[in-house]
Amino acid sequence: MKRSVIAAVVACVLVLPPTSTSPWRSAAAASSDDAAVSRVKEDSYYPAIGDPSVDVLHYGLVLDWDDADSVLTGTATLRLRSPRAQESIRLDLNSHLRVDTVTLDGAAVGFSHPDKNLVVESGALAANSRHVLVVTYAGSPEPYDFPGSRGDIPALGWTTRPDGQVWSMQEPYGAFTWYPSHDQPSDKATYDLTVTSRADWVGVANGELRSNTVTSGRRTTHFRLASPTASYLVTIAIGPYRRYTDQGPHGLPVTYWVRPVDRDVLPTLRRTPAMLRWLERVLGRYPFDRAGAVVVPAASAMETQTLVTMGADLKRHGQTFASDLLHEYAHQWYGDTVTPDDWKHLWLNESFAMYVQIRWEVAHGVRSATDWRTSLDLYDQDYRTVGGPPGSYKRSEFGSGSVYYSGARMLFRLRERLGAATFDRLLRAWPQQHRFGSVDRGDWIRFAERVTGSPLGRFVNRWLDAERSPR
Ligand SMILES: [Zn+2]
Repeated sequence: MKRSVIAAVVACVLVLPPTSTSPWRSAAAASSDDAAVSRVKEDSYYPAIGDPSVDVLHYGLVLDWDDADSVLTGTATLRLRSPRAQESIRLDLNSHLRVDTVTLDGAAVGFSHPDKNLVVESGALAANSRHVLVVTYAGSPEPYDFPGSRGDIPALGWTTRPDGQVWSMQEPYGAFTWYPSHDQPSDKATYDLTVTSRADWVGVANGELRSNTVTSGRRTTHFRLASPTASYLVTIAIGPYRRYTDQGPHGLPVTYWVRPVDRDVLPTLRRTPAMLRWLERVLGRYPFDRAGAVVVPAASAMETQTLVTMGADLKRHGQTFASDLLHEYAHQWYGDTVTPDDWKHLWLNESFAMYVQIRWEVAHGVRSATDWRTSLDLYDQDYRTVGGPPGSYKRSEFGSGSVYYSGARMLFRLRERLGAATFDRLLRAWPQQHRFGSVDRGDWIRFAERVTGSPLGRFVNRWLDAERSPR
């Protein structure tokens, strides 16, 4: 998630795309299910969201959006693992969506849907057994309350504009505002997302665009997200999108989805290949098979996997759009390929992305190292007072300053303590050696101690948990 903001420029190229592959070929997905097995857990910060009764391996979402009546009709096919022996399972699905049918392994099963909990009467499931759950549903999606006070995030999940266009940002949760999900970050899964809407609009999601066809005046796009992905890192946007392409380091495919009204950000988006090359020098090889951005009518930004979601409002703040774009790309290493298994450990994402963003800003003359250091020292206490310390922040202040800046300040101090070469080696090694992993604070401390040969637990725990700003 972005912290502050910046801006952009001029006009550009245009491609739209009818390609014509047949939608849905499911072959690849079956073999990738093993890679999506997760060690699921109940969240210590937001236990009402998510439930460790389910390990989803793959989501197949077929969505139809009626923008005139604001009705979403969906069929969700979940390949899942039962982590334990049990007789029912629970998923998250907002109460604005009405469930019509639920089948498990082809047979209709009972269910109830109190509040946002979809409880499926599965019958006896053996521990570690695998099943296919199909849910059909429809309704007018509504976003969900954000557990914080940030002005750039009014609510979470599917957001419908008055003109029927759609965008989404959903950290720490909110996927359940538009599909039945295990909406907690320890559960990673792969995705096939098929979106149908009016023909002059495009349904955009993350992953590879497999097909884009118009039938009977309706456009259908199919995206495959083949890398295991936590639900907060999924994105959807529907509107008059145009597709622009680029090429990143070593031939990496890069895609930008931009509405005509936001075409002025294209020159900034086209800095992506240079940003990724710089990030590869600092963090090692880019962890996924593609990159890019979708620009949506919002005020924040999100590190959605392989396709970051950028709020167009950020372009009003000068340099911020570029800095935030870099920040979201940094998260592909810190947050996306290696992900905290619990929201308590948000600092494992934001402190590192902020740290990398600061190094990029210093290297590119945006702001000096001295300025940054002065500012981090000056405001550290304020951030801790308002949001709590970065490693045990207030749960009613998700994404407040300390997880970004106080954590980044700790990393700068750690670099001084370890020496630049040792710290930089650690910075690269963590995402490279935890590809597609789920982790917590203890994992990071143990890894850091092993890589650097230094005892770090006391230092790190003090900086993460201190109410008073460490000197
Ligand atoms: Zn972030």
